[in-house]
Amino acid sequence: MAVKVGFIGVGNMGNPMAGNILKQSFPMTVFDLNPKAMENLVQAGAAKAGSAGEVVDNSEIVLTSLPASPDVEATYLNAGGLVDRAKPGTILIDLSSVLPSTPRKIEPRAKARGVHFLEAPVSGGVSGARAATLAIMVGGDAEPLERARPVLRAIGPNIFHVGPVGAGNIAKAINNMMACVNSLAMMEGLAVGVKAGLDPMTVYEVVKASSGGSKALERIPRALIPRDFEPGFKVALMNKDLDTFTAIAKELHVPISFANVAQRYQQMALAAGLGEQDTSVVMTLIEQLAVTKVPQGKAGA
Ligand code: NAD
Repeated sequence: MAVKVGFIGVGNMGNPMAGNILKQSFPMTVFDLNPKAMENLVQAGAAKAGSAGEVVDNSEIVLTSLPASPDVEATYLNAGGLVDRAKPGTILIDLSSVLPSTPRKIEPRAKARGVHFLEAPVSGGVSGARAATLAIMVGGDAEPLERARPVLRAIGPNIFHVGPVGAGNIAKAINNMMACVNSLAMMEGLAVGVKAGLDPMTVYEVVKASSGGSKALERIPRALIPRDFEPGFKVALMNKDLDTFTAIAKELHVPISFANVAQRYQQMALAAGLGEQDTSVVMTLIEQLAVTKVPQGKAGA
């Protein structure tokens, strides 16, 4: 009998991840504060719970994909939360990107009840979540990871056991800082190219075949030319991840510079009311500063 899986938080990332676990025939119970977010999963065979507690009552492995540390800490640690309510032996796995202090608070409370806890932040975006190609950065004990591996394997092939709890979210924050800096460098380069009269797809193709290439370039055909700023990955969440990175660096007395520059743009986007749009929307602010505009075309042009 396949292990019973619970999934709490089925937004932009959680929804396709839960869908891929369902496709592997794991019986699943889902919960999200937004009932609409669960609809497609219920149609695909998931049971809909009325609360997070109901999910943990019905599951041997529970996954959460929530916005930020306060949501995760409340869901796990409040009286009657996941840690209090889970049966001994249950494996709780948080896929959210949070401060390393969050999993470090949850794990000892879970262990005291005979409950396993792993952090497992992911990378690869919504497209990676849909394609089940996510990278998964696990922090915590090896034994529950081995038991949970078939479930995690349903969302991504690259499962890294980074170290004890906290280590996974440190790796994740490093990754997102680098992804954000790469994106900003690409957008500033593109603004110069467009203002100089270059075709944005020419910039894309040339740099992709050259030494300045990175995954950030894919935003040019996917989001910048079609001007599609639907999330994806929200500005507010990237800003939170840069907060995490700078907090880690500050605690370790590591001087950092690029994260601060990249975060300035996220702050500008938040101030402009763009926090719920995809991080690619920052291009519109750079365009205003540069008095230029990427010419609009079709998606994937
Ligand atoms: P999202 O806002 O689209 O989804 C979060 C979901 O959680 C929403 O549906 C919301 O209704 C639900 N929710 C919030 N609080 C809840 C609670 N207490 N109980 C039940 N449901 C609750 O965010 P997302 O983009 O899916 O991101 C989720 C996490 O994954 C974040 O930590 C984010 O940083 C991380 N992440 C996102 C991406 C991406 O590309 N979007 C990539 C990697 C990691």
